[in-house]
Amino acid sequence: MDKIQHKDKELDYLTRSLLHHPSPYIIYELDGSIAWANMAAIYIFELDQLNEISIKKIDDEIKNNFGDLDSIALYYDTPIEISLRKISFFMRTRVHMIPMTDDTGIMLIELLCSSRDGLNALRETIQCIENNRIELAYQKQYDLNTNKVTGVEALLRMQDGEGGYFANDRVIPLIEGEKLFSLIVLESLNQVKKFFEVKDSLGLKDTTLYLNVSAHTIMHQEFCKIFTKFVKDNDIKPNEFGLEITETAELEDIKKASESLGRLKNEGIKIALDDFGAGYASLKYIKDLPIDVVKLDRDFTSNITDEATSKLVKFVAEVCDELKLEMIGEGIETEEEKNKMIDLGCTIGQGYLMHMPSFVDEFEIEK
Ligand code: C2E
Ligand code: MG
Ligand code: MG
Repeated sequence: MDKIQHKDKELDYLTRSLLHHPSPYIIYELDGSIAWANMAAIYIFELDQLNEISIKKIDDEIKNNFGDLDSIALYYDTPIEISLRKISFFMRTRVHMIPMTDDTGIMLIELLCSSRDGLNALRETIQCIENNRIELAYQKQYDLNTNKVTGVEALLRMQDGEGGYFANDRVIPLIEGEKLFSLIVLESLNQVKKFFEVKDSLGLKDTTLYLNVSAHTIMHQEFCKIFTKFVKDNDIKPNEFGLEITETAELEDIKKASESLGRLKNEGIKIALDDFGAGYASLKYIKDLPIDVVKLDRDFTSNITDEATSKLVKFVAEVCDELKLEMIGEGIETEEEKNKMIDLGCTIGQGYLMHMPSFVDEFEIEK
Protein backbone atom coordinates (compact mmCIF):
# COMPACT_ATOMS: atom_id res chain seq x y z
CA MET A 1 0.00 0.00 0.00
CA ASP A 2 1.44 3.34 -0.84
CA LYS A 3 2.27 5.74 1.93
CA ILE A 4 -0.37 8.32 1.17
CA GLN A 5 -3.16 5.83 1.05
CA HIS A 6 -1.90 4.31 4.23
CA LYS A 7 -1.94 7.66 5.96
CA ASP A 8 -5.36 8.47 4.66
CA LYS A 9 -6.66 5.28 6.12
CA GLU A 10 -5.04 5.98 9.48
CA LEU A 11 -6.35 9.52 9.49
CA ASP A 12 -9.78 8.42 8.54
CA TYR A 13 -9.79 5.98 11.41
CA LEU A 14 -8.52 8.61 13.82
CA THR A 15 -11.01 11.13 12.60
CA ARG A 16 -13.88 8.83 13.24
CA SER A 17 -12.69 7.74 16.64
CA LEU A 18 -11.72 11.21 17.79
CA LEU A 19 -15.09 12.62 16.93
CA HIS A 20 -16.33 10.77 19.99
CA HIS A 21 -13.60 12.19 22.17
CA PRO A 22 -14.59 14.99 24.54
CA SER A 23 -11.94 17.41 23.40
CA PRO A 24 -10.89 18.19 19.86
CA TYR A 25 -7.72 17.32 18.05
CA ILE A 26 -5.53 18.68 15.41
CA ILE A 27 -3.36 16.28 13.58
CA TYR A 28 0.02 17.73 12.91
CA GLU A 29 2.41 15.78 10.82
CA LEU A 30 6.10 15.84 11.36
CA ASP A 31 6.82 17.28 7.93
CA GLY A 32 4.78 20.33 8.82
CA SER A 33 1.63 19.67 6.86
CA ILE A 34 -1.52 19.44 8.82
CA ALA A 35 -4.40 17.13 8.31
CA TRP A 36 -7.50 17.23 10.35
CA ALA A 37 -9.56 15.30 12.77
CA ASN A 38 -12.54 17.54 13.19
CA MET A 39 -13.83 21.03 12.56
CA ALA A 40 -11.58 22.69 15.08
CA ALA A 41 -8.61 21.24 13.36
CA ILE A 42 -9.82 22.33 9.97
CA TYR A 43 -9.95 25.80 11.29
CA ILE A 44 -6.43 25.83 12.60
CA PHE A 45 -5.35 24.26 9.38
CA GLU A 46 -6.90 27.09 7.40
CA LEU A 47 -5.26 29.64 9.63
CA ASP A 48 -1.96 28.06 8.93
CA GLN A 49 -2.39 28.83 5.24
CA LEU A 50 -2.25 32.52 6.00
CA ASN A 51 1.04 34.29 6.22
CA GLU A 52 0.09 36.07 9.36
CA ILE A 53 -0.46 33.02 11.47
CA SER A 54 1.82 30.15 11.96
CA ILE A 55 1.79 27.26 14.29
CA LYS A 56 5.42 27.01 15.27
CA LYS A 57 6.90 23.72 14.21
CA ILE A 58 7.20 21.23 16.94
CA ASP A 59 10.90 21.08 17.53
CA ASP A 60 13.17 18.09 17.75
CA GLU A 61 13.39 18.31 21.49
CA ILE A 62 9.70 17.59 21.73
CA LYS A 63 10.04 14.78 19.22
CA ASN A 64 12.84 13.23 21.23
CA ASN A 65 10.69 13.26 24.31
CA PHE A 66 8.66 10.54 22.75
CA GLY A 67 11.58 8.18 22.38
CA ASP A 68 11.05 5.54 19.77
CA LEU A 69 7.79 5.12 18.01
CA ASP A 70 7.02 1.57 19.00
CA SER A 71 4.45 2.12 21.64
CA ILE A 72 1.10 3.66 21.17
CA ALA A 73 -0.68 6.44 23.03
CA LEU A 74 2.34 8.42 24.14
CA TYR A 75 1.45 11.94 25.11
CA TYR A 76 2.39 14.87 27.25
CA ASP A 77 1.04 18.33 27.99
CA THR A 78 2.81 21.38 26.66
CA PRO A 79 1.92 24.84 25.50
CA ILE A 80 2.49 25.40 21.79
CA GLU A 81 3.35 28.76 20.43
CA ILE A 82 1.04 30.26 17.87
CA SER A 83 1.51 33.63 16.32
CA LEU A 84 -1.34 35.69 15.04
CA ARG A 85 -0.91 39.20 13.69
CA LYS A 86 2.73 38.98 14.70
CA ILE A 87 1.77 38.47 18.34
CA SER A 88 2.71 35.16 19.83
CA PHE A 89 0.64 33.38 22.36
CA PHE A 90 0.55 29.91 23.78
CA MET A 91 -2.29 27.47 23.62
CA ARG A 92 -2.56 24.76 26.19
CA THR A 93 -2.20 21.53 24.32
CA ARG A 94 -1.57 17.87 24.75
CA VAL A 95 0.72 16.39 22.14
CA HIS A 96 0.09 12.76 21.19
CA MET A 97 2.34 10.63 19.11
CA ILE A 98 0.72 7.98 16.97
CA PRO A 99 3.19 5.57 15.40
CA MET A 100 2.55 4.40 11.86
CA THR A 101 3.47 1.02 10.54
CA ASP A 102 6.07 2.46 8.15
CA ASP A 103 8.23 3.74 11.03
CA THR A 104 6.97 7.27 10.80
CA GLY A 105 4.58 8.88 13.20
CA ILE A 106 1.96 11.54 13.22
CA MET A 107 1.39 13.99 15.96
CA LEU A 108 -1.92 14.93 17.37
CA ILE A 109 -2.22 18.22 19.06
CA GLU A 110 -5.16 18.35 21.37
CA LEU A 111 -6.27 21.82 22.29
CA LEU A 112 -7.01 21.74 25.98
CA CYS A 113 -10.23 23.58 26.59
CA SER A 114 -12.52 23.01 29.50
CA SER A 115 -15.47 22.42 27.21
CA ARG A 116 -16.63 22.26 23.65
CA ASP A 117 -18.35 25.61 24.17
CA GLY A 118 -14.97 26.96 25.23
CA LEU A 119 -13.38 25.70 22.07
CA ASN A 120 -16.13 27.14 19.90
CA ALA A 121 -15.73 30.49 21.62
CA LEU A 122 -12.01 30.31 20.99
CA ARG A 123 -12.56 29.62 17.32
CA GLU A 124 -15.07 32.44 17.05
CA THR A 125 -12.55 34.75 18.68
CA ILE A 126 -9.68 33.71 16.44
CA GLN A 127 -11.93 34.35 13.46
CA CYS A 128 -12.75 37.81 14.75
CA ILE A 129 -9.16 38.74 15.40
CA GLU A 130 -8.01 37.39 12.10
CA ASN A 131 -10.68 39.20 10.08
CA ASN A 132 -10.61 42.50 11.95
CA ARG A 133 -14.08 41.95 13.28
CA ILE A 134 -13.47 43.39 16.73
CA GLU A 135 -14.95 46.77 17.48
CA LEU A 136 -15.85 48.82 20.50
CA ALA A 137 -19.26 50.37 21.05
CA TYR A 138 -19.52 53.17 23.57
CA GLN A 139 -22.21 54.03 26.10
CA LYS A 140 -22.32 57.38 27.86
CA GLN A 141 -22.69 57.80 31.61
CA TYR A 142 -24.57 60.80 32.95
CA ASP A 143 -24.92 63.01 35.95
CA LEU A 144 -28.58 62.22 36.54
CA ASN A 145 -29.35 65.69 37.90
CA THR A 146 -27.70 67.83 35.24
CA ASN A 147 -27.83 65.37 32.29
CA LYS A 148 -24.16 66.13 31.61
CA VAL A 149 -21.95 63.27 30.42
CA THR A 150 -19.44 62.23 33.08
CA GLY A 151 -17.96 59.18 31.40
CA VAL A 152 -18.17 56.66 28.56
CA GLU A 153 -17.93 52.89 28.79
CA ALA A 154 -16.31 50.95 25.93
CA LEU A 155 -18.11 47.69 25.19
CA LEU A 156 -16.67 44.92 23.09
CA ARG A 157 -18.48 44.06 19.89
CA MET A 158 -17.30 40.95 18.05
CA GLN A 159 -19.01 40.50 14.68
CA ASP A 160 -20.21 36.98 14.00
CA GLY A 161 -19.67 37.36 10.24
CA GLU A 162 -23.39 37.03 9.57
CA GLY A 163 -24.39 40.58 10.31
CA GLY A 164 -24.75 40.12 14.06
CA TYR A 165 -22.53 40.10 17.13
CA PHE A 166 -21.46 37.40 19.53
CA ALA A 167 -23.07 37.86 22.95
CA ASN A 168 -20.40 39.16 25.33
CA ASP A 169 -21.97 37.50 28.32
CA ARG A 170 -21.66 34.11 26.62
CA VAL A 171 -18.31 34.40 24.85
CA ILE A 172 -16.16 36.45 27.23
CA PRO A 173 -16.43 34.17 30.27
CA LEU A 174 -15.42 31.24 28.07
CA ILE A 175 -12.31 32.83 26.62
CA GLU A 176 -11.03 35.32 29.16
CA GLY A 177 -8.80 32.76 30.85
CA GLU A 178 -7.13 31.96 27.55
CA LYS A 179 -3.89 33.65 26.60
CA LEU A 180 -5.59 34.54 23.37
CA PHE A 181 -7.75 36.96 25.30
CA SER A 182 -4.82 39.31 25.70
CA LEU A 183 -5.03 39.88 21.96
CA ILE A 184 -8.50 41.27 22.45
CA VAL A 185 -7.27 43.57 25.18
CA LEU A 186 -4.48 44.82 22.90
CA GLU A 187 -6.84 45.26 19.99
CA SER A 188 -9.29 47.11 22.27
CA LEU A 189 -6.50 49.43 23.35
CA ASN A 190 -5.73 50.19 19.70
CA GLN A 191 -9.30 51.29 19.31
CA VAL A 192 -9.40 53.20 22.59
CA LYS A 193 -6.39 55.09 21.30
CA LYS A 194 -8.42 56.14 18.26
CA PHE A 195 -11.26 57.16 20.55
CA PHE A 196 -8.92 59.47 22.43
CA GLU A 197 -7.96 61.15 19.17
CA VAL A 198 -11.58 62.32 18.71
CA LYS A 199 -12.71 62.48 22.32
CA ASP A 200 -12.45 66.26 22.78
CA SER A 201 -14.07 66.97 19.44
CA LEU A 202 -17.08 64.89 20.55
CA GLY A 203 -17.56 67.27 23.46
CA LEU A 204 -16.25 64.65 25.89
CA LYS A 205 -13.24 66.52 27.25
CA ASP A 206 -12.66 65.84 30.96
CA THR A 207 -14.91 62.77 30.96
CA THR A 208 -13.56 59.31 31.77
CA LEU A 209 -13.35 56.59 29.14
CA TYR A 210 -13.70 53.19 30.83
CA LEU A 211 -12.54 49.89 29.40
CA ASN A 212 -13.77 46.61 30.90
CA VAL A 213 -11.05 44.28 32.09
CA SER A 214 -11.69 40.89 33.56
CA ALA A 215 -10.00 39.54 36.66
CA HIS A 216 -7.86 37.25 34.52
CA THR A 217 -6.43 40.25 32.69
CA ILE A 218 -5.52 41.93 35.96
CA MET A 219 -3.61 38.88 37.08
CA HIS A 220 -1.67 38.83 33.81
CA GLN A 221 2.00 39.62 34.43
CA GLU A 222 2.14 42.26 31.69
CA PHE A 223 -1.06 43.94 32.89
CA CYS A 224 0.43 46.94 34.67
CA LYS A 225 3.03 47.55 32.02
CA ILE A 226 0.53 47.51 29.16
CA PHE A 227 -1.78 50.07 30.72
CA THR A 228 0.82 52.42 32.18
CA LYS A 229 2.59 52.42 28.83
CA PHE A 230 -0.72 53.14 27.14
CA VAL A 231 -1.48 56.29 29.16
CA LYS A 232 2.11 57.51 28.89
CA ASP A 233 2.52 56.90 25.15
CA ASN A 234 -0.77 58.59 24.39
CA ASP A 235 -0.37 61.44 26.83
CA ILE A 236 -3.66 60.69 28.51
CA LYS A 237 -4.51 63.08 31.31
CA PRO A 238 -5.30 61.85 34.83
CA ASN A 239 -8.88 60.65 35.28
CA GLU A 240 -9.56 60.54 31.53
CA PHE A 241 -9.03 56.79 31.35
CA GLY A 242 -10.39 54.13 33.66
CA LEU A 243 -10.81 50.39 33.99
CA GLU A 244 -13.98 48.60 34.99
CA ILE A 245 -13.07 45.42 36.78
CA THR A 246 -15.50 42.62 35.98
CA GLU A 247 -15.78 39.13 37.44
CA THR A 248 -13.94 40.12 40.60
CA ALA A 249 -14.98 36.86 42.24
CA GLU A 250 -12.32 35.30 40.04
CA LEU A 251 -9.45 37.40 41.40
CA GLU A 252 -6.94 34.79 42.49
CA ASP A 253 -4.67 36.98 44.53
CA ILE A 254 -6.27 40.10 45.94
CA LYS A 255 -3.04 41.44 47.36
CA LYS A 256 -1.29 41.24 44.02
CA ALA A 257 -4.31 42.68 42.21
CA SER A 258 -4.47 45.51 44.69
CA GLU A 259 -0.80 46.37 44.16
CA SER A 260 -1.21 46.37 40.38
CA LEU A 261 -4.34 48.50 40.52
CA GLY A 262 -2.65 50.85 42.98
CA ARG A 263 0.16 51.42 40.53
CA LEU A 264 -2.30 52.18 37.77
CA LYS A 265 -4.15 54.55 40.04
CA ASN A 266 -0.88 56.40 40.63
CA GLU A 267 -0.68 56.89 36.88
CA GLY A 268 -4.06 58.61 36.96
CA ILE A 269 -6.12 55.63 35.79
CA LYS A 270 -9.51 55.40 37.52
CA ILE A 271 -10.55 52.04 38.90
CA ALA A 272 -14.21 51.04 38.90
CA LEU A 273 -15.70 47.95 40.49
CA ASP A 274 -18.21 46.63 37.94
CA ASP A 275 -21.48 44.79 38.63
CA PHE A 276 -21.31 45.59 42.31
CA GLY A 277 -23.67 43.46 44.34
CA ALA A 278 -23.75 40.66 41.78
CA GLY A 279 -20.61 38.89 42.97
CA TYR A 280 -20.62 37.37 46.42
CA ALA A 281 -17.49 39.10 47.66
CA SER A 282 -18.10 42.63 46.48
CA LEU A 283 -18.09 44.38 49.87
CA LYS A 284 -14.71 42.91 50.63
CA TYR A 285 -13.35 44.31 47.37
CA ILE A 286 -14.39 47.84 48.32
CA LYS A 287 -12.18 47.41 51.34
CA ASP A 288 -9.27 45.58 49.71
CA LEU A 289 -8.92 47.18 46.29
CA PRO A 290 -7.90 50.80 45.60
CA ILE A 291 -11.11 51.68 43.79
CA ASP A 292 -12.58 55.07 42.86
CA VAL A 293 -15.95 54.02 41.50
CA VAL A 294 -18.64 51.50 42.40
CA LYS A 295 -20.92 50.44 39.56
CA LEU A 296 -24.13 49.08 40.93
CA ASP A 297 -25.32 46.00 39.07
CA ARG A 298 -28.28 46.35 36.72
CA ASP A 299 -30.26 43.89 38.78
CA PHE A 300 -30.72 46.50 41.52
CA THR A 301 -31.96 49.07 39.02
CA SER A 302 -34.55 46.79 37.50
CA ASN A 303 -35.88 45.85 40.96
CA ILE A 304 -35.63 49.31 42.44
CA THR A 305 -39.33 49.49 43.31
CA ASP A 306 -38.85 46.52 45.60
CA GLU A 307 -38.50 47.77 49.17
CA ALA A 308 -35.51 45.67 50.22
CA THR A 309 -33.70 46.52 46.98
CA SER A 310 -34.19 50.25 47.42
CA LYS A 311 -32.90 50.00 51.00
CA LEU A 312 -29.79 48.24 49.75
CA VAL A 313 -29.23 50.87 47.06
CA LYS A 314 -29.54 53.58 49.69
CA PHE A 315 -27.07 51.73 51.87
CA VAL A 316 -24.55 51.44 49.05
CA ALA A 317 -24.98 55.15 48.25
CA GLU A 318 -24.25 56.00 51.88
CA VAL A 319 -21.18 53.76 51.96
CA CYS A 320 -19.87 55.37 48.77
CA ASP A 321 -20.52 58.82 50.13
CA GLU A 322 -18.73 57.98 53.37
CA LEU A 323 -15.72 56.47 51.57
CA LYS A 324 -15.64 59.24 48.94
CA LEU A 325 -16.30 56.82 46.09
CA GLU A 326 -18.31 57.63 42.99
CA MET A 327 -21.36 55.48 42.44
CA ILE A 328 -22.79 54.69 39.02
CA GLY A 329 -26.17 53.00 38.61
CA GLU A 330 -26.21 50.60 35.66
CA GLY A 331 -29.03 49.62 33.31
CA ILE A 332 -31.42 52.54 33.81
CA GLU A 333 -34.25 51.99 31.35
CA THR A 334 -37.13 54.14 32.64
CA GLU A 335 -37.71 57.63 34.05
CA GLU A 336 -39.07 55.97 37.18
CA GLU A 337 -35.82 54.07 37.72
CA LYS A 338 -33.80 57.20 37.11
CA ASN A 339 -35.79 59.28 39.58
CA LYS A 340 -35.69 56.55 42.21
CA MET A 341 -31.90 56.34 41.82
CA ILE A 342 -31.56 60.08 42.40
CA ASP A 343 -33.86 59.86 45.45
CA LEU A 344 -31.73 57.08 46.93
CA GLY A 345 -28.49 59.04 46.50
CA CYS A 346 -27.09 57.56 43.30
CA THR A 347 -26.41 60.57 41.10
CA ILE A 348 -24.53 59.09 38.15
CA GLY A 349 -26.19 56.58 35.86
CA GLN A 350 -25.95 54.67 32.62
CA GLY A 351 -28.60 52.88 30.63
CA TYR A 352 -30.75 52.63 27.54
CA LEU A 353 -32.95 55.50 28.78
CA MET A 354 -30.13 58.00 28.37
CA HIS A 355 -27.98 56.40 25.71
CA MET A 356 -27.85 53.13 23.78
CA PRO A 357 -24.33 51.75 23.23
CA SER A 358 -23.29 52.93 19.77
CA PHE A 359 -20.27 53.37 17.54
CA VAL A 360 -18.39 56.64 17.59
CA ASP A 361 -19.51 57.71 14.13
CA GLU A 362 -23.10 57.63 15.40
CA PHE A 363 -22.32 59.88 18.37
CA GLU A 364 -24.01 63.24 18.76
CA ILE A 365 -21.57 65.91 19.81
CA GLU A 366 -22.10 66.95 23.44
CA LYS A 367 -22.54 70.66 24.07
P1 C2E B 1 -20.99 45.39 31.85
O1 C2E B 1 -19.60 45.91 31.87
O2 C2E B 1 -21.76 45.46 33.10
O3 C2E B 1 -21.67 46.20 30.68
C1 C2E B 1 -23.02 46.60 30.68
C2 C2E B 1 -23.84 45.71 29.80
O4 C2E B 1 -25.20 46.06 29.93
C3 C2E B 1 -23.52 45.88 28.32
O5 C2E B 1 -23.80 44.64 27.69
C4 C2E B 1 -24.54 46.94 27.88
O6 C2E B 1 -24.80 46.92 26.50
C5 C2E B 1 -25.73 46.52 28.72
N1 C2E B 1 -26.62 47.64 29.02
C6 C2E B 1 -26.34 48.96 29.09
N2 C2E B 1 -27.44 49.65 29.45
C7 C2E B 1 -28.44 48.75 29.60
C8 C2E B 1 -29.83 48.87 29.96
O7 C2E B 1 -30.38 49.96 30.22
N3 C2E B 1 -30.55 47.72 30.02
C9 C2E B 1 -29.99 46.51 29.75
N4 C2E B 1 -30.78 45.42 29.80
N5 C2E B 1 -28.67 46.36 29.41
C10 C2E B 1 -27.92 47.47 29.34
P2 C2E B 1 -22.73 43.95 26.77
O8 C2E B 1 -22.10 44.96 25.87
O9 C2E B 1 -23.40 42.78 26.14
O10 C2E B 1 -21.61 43.45 27.75
C11 C2E B 1 -21.88 42.47 28.69
C12 C2E B 1 -20.70 42.27 29.60
O11 C2E B 1 -19.57 41.79 28.87
C13 C2E B 1 -20.20 43.55 30.24
O12 C2E B 1 -21.01 43.90 31.33
C14 C2E B 1 -18.81 43.15 30.64
O13 C2E B 1 -18.81 42.39 31.81
C15 C2E B 1 -18.40 42.27 29.49
N6 C2E B 1 -17.61 43.07 28.55
C16 C2E B 1 -18.03 43.95 27.61
N7 C2E B 1 -16.99 44.46 26.94
C17 C2E B 1 -15.87 43.93 27.47
C18 C2E B 1 -14.46 44.06 27.23
O14 C2E B 1 -14.00 44.82 26.37
N8 C2E B 1 -13.62 43.32 28.01
C19 C2E B 1 -14.07 42.49 28.98
N9 C2E B 1 -13.19 41.82 29.71
N10 C2E B 1 -15.38 42.34 29.25
C20 C2E B 1 -16.26 43.04 28.51
MG1 MG C 1 -18.66 47.41 32.59
MG1 MG D 1 -21.72 46.15 34.78
